[in-house]
Amino acid sequence: MNIILFGPPGAGKGTQADRIINHYSLAHLSTGNMFRSAIHNKTPLGVKVSSILASGELVSDDIVVALVKEETEKDIYTNGCVFDGFPRTVAQSVTFDAMLSERGQKVDLLLSLTVDNHELINRILSRGQGRSDDTEEGIKHRLEVYNNETKPVLDYYQEKGIVVEINGTGSVDDVFNRIKDSISAI
Ligand code: ADP
Repeated sequence: MNIILFGPPGAGKGTQADRIINHYSLAHLSTGNMFRSAIHNKTPLGVKVSSILASGELVSDDIVVALVKEETEKDIYTNGCVFDGFPRTVAQSVTFDAMLSERGQKVDLLLSLTVDNHELINRILSRGQGRSDDTEEGIKHRLEVYNNETKPVLDYYQEKGIVVEINGTGSVDDVFNRIKDSISAI
């Protein structure tokens, strides 16, 4: 089972991804985490994307898709995965679907976590992870990028009939219970 966990910065994708992968024994792929780890380890990829992450812009589709393609060739991904932060553009979605279909797989479900903007900003500012892009200005810019470039991904998968909207407010357990209900419905 392949699940896309979708939503704006601060919607709780990382937190819910952890719950889903433990409960359903799926792999977890977060492109944001992969980039942050590359930056931390000062790999050539990390050096290339460091200023892009700090600015809140998106890393180019070519780089992201190559990274995901290489990573998902590993055995741990054969039973399915929660994709968190990917795909983030329609171009990434199209290439992603083609890649999965070559492997006889598909995206089974897109869970779209919704939280209002005011709460998103508060959540990110209070999570205090020390991320260089987690300033008020940085978050506002990431929300803009999300609205302009990432939201169209929702329309793209809506046409395929696999989108389920999840209310992302309430406790972590509340949200996870809603997610479990949607997964058992497929
Ligand atoms: P958030 O959801 O809080 O914005 P992420 O960890 O998903 O955090 O992403 C952090 C940053 O990493 C993004 O602002 C972007 O620069 C880069 N990034 C992550 N995933 C992608 C992707 N699929 N395409 C392009 N850039 C990405």
